[in-house]
Amino acid sequence: QSKDWQMMLRLRNPAGRVPAQLYLAIDELADRLGNGTLRTTTRQAFQMHGVRKDNLKEVIGTIVRSLGSTLAACGDINRNVMAPAAPFSKGGYPAARQLADDIADLLAPQAAEGSYLDLWVDGDLSYRIKPSPAARKVKEAQHQSGVYSGDSEEPLYGATYLPRKFKVAVTVPGDNSVDLLTQDIGLVLFTDPQGRPQGANVYVGGGMGRTHNKEETFARTADPLGYVAYPHLLELVQAIVALQRDHGDRQLRRHARMKYLIHDRGVDWFRQELRATYFAHPIKGMRLEPKAKLEDYLGWHRQSQGLWFVGLPILCGRISGELKPGLRRLVDTYKLELRLTPNQDILLCNIGAAQRSSIRAELEQLGFASPEAPRPLARHALACPALPLCGLAVTEAERVLPDVLERLEVLFETLGITRPVLVRMTGCPNGCARPYMAEIGLVGSGVDQYQLWLGGTPNLSRLAEPYLERLPLAELETTLEPLLRAWQSAGGRRSFGDFVARTGRPAVEAMLAAA
Ligand code: SF4
Repeated sequence: QSKDWQMMLRLRNPAGRVPAQLYLAIDELADRLGNGTLRTTTRQAFQMHGVRKDNLKEVIGTIVRSLGSTLAACGDINRNVMAPAAPFSKGGYPAARQLADDIADLLAPQAAEGSYLDLWVDGDLSYRIKPSPAARKVKEAQHQSGVYSGDSEEPLYGATYLPRKFKVAVTVPGDNSVDLLTQDIGLVLFTDPQGRPQGANVYVGGGMGRTHNKEETFARTADPLGYVAYPHLLELVQAIVALQRDHGDRQLRRHARMKYLIHDRGVDWFRQELRATYFAHPIKGMRLEPKAKLEDYLGWHRQSQGLWFVGLPILCGRISGELKPGLRRLVDTYKLELRLTPNQDILLCNIGAAQRSSIRAELEQLGFASPEAPRPLARHALACPALPLCGLAVTEAERVLPDVLERLEVLFETLGITRPVLVRMTGCPNGCARPYMAEIGLVGSGVDQYQLWLGGTPNLSRLAEPYLERLPLAELETTLEPLLRAWQSAGGRRSFGDFVARTGRPAVEAMLAAA
């Protein structure tokens, strides 16, 4: 007798955009053929758990027929492209969203899409992803350019695809909602005062995944590569992908992400190799950027003339319980588009001025009386699904995060601390919730035990460092208290992460040991 397989399924939602029709379809599928919940991921996509193998065709077929796709949401290929979720029509936001869409189209597999449609919608090619004009133009030139893999069916990826998964994010200057430095490619798009794109600062070689006790694996923030003019950005992105395809490590999977290539050979070598073989246009010095902020867009915002959106805080992105039918009712009644943020929150978009008061009242009933002001520690906290949903988890994350936050809140109150701290938690070192950028990162290292990382920043600009290998969760408060007390005594002017970084490792270790 064969095993009863069940799957996790992830959608492709560039920049986190989910039309109402697609949301209603996956909401229904989750109840009927999933585990009854939905989850927004830290890459702005929806994830469903508990889909039985027998039901895959119905589930994926329905998603495709409802304007969605799961193509290339997993695997050794470019993953969901991130961009600021806010649907603002102002500044550089529309151009950044368009660039994210263009990149998603450009890096979608070509030959694989035919088999995908064969499998799930009986080969109905009308569901093919139609590349944007900009992506199509660059794709058409692939055969003649330095990025050609030699495979006419899959000109960019070739028969063997990439050595490992690949992640791209786009943002506008000053908005670090996308955790830019954790990406293989991060683009900060500059626009003129009319919102017309001019070019982007390009960062390369970020990545979070690592393995405990394997020093050769590590989390890494991306390096600045340079500034590239807008007309050449898509060519640059595919050139970087081709370089990683050809030079990334295909022997040792643990060493296959582009961050190791750049770490081992240096960003100068990377830039030279790009220019020599793959990319014919100038790579200039970086443009000055304003200090970035982790934007979350919670609460009510003007979207454009006559339209509003409202950002709802969703801890761990889990849509379950009363929230699920409530959200469905709102989306169905008002035909609202959703946008998912990298912080796993949801923006309800395209709200007409006349609909605001009734939507506000319904949200209040769902527990969102003040969506702009969630509990401070919960506001930016992240946790991965971990147990029981992830086969790689060694311990809990999502299920214990609410309790961990409550315990920290009590401790903060006791110590008189009012400034929030960025907390992230994962069930294993793969780092799906990007814990290595947090001010307090808890990375599962054993049952109810966590590696303790400290020293990230509230705006996600610096990597944290490991301080303890196996912190029993039961000792969280006693371990952190001396350090938090010292931070508070120092006046709490700096963020906790900056305080840890400036205090220095010996003193921080002494305080942790004093616990
Ligand atoms: Fe699973 Fe580890 Fe990712 Fe958490 S961090 S979802 S435990 S692989």
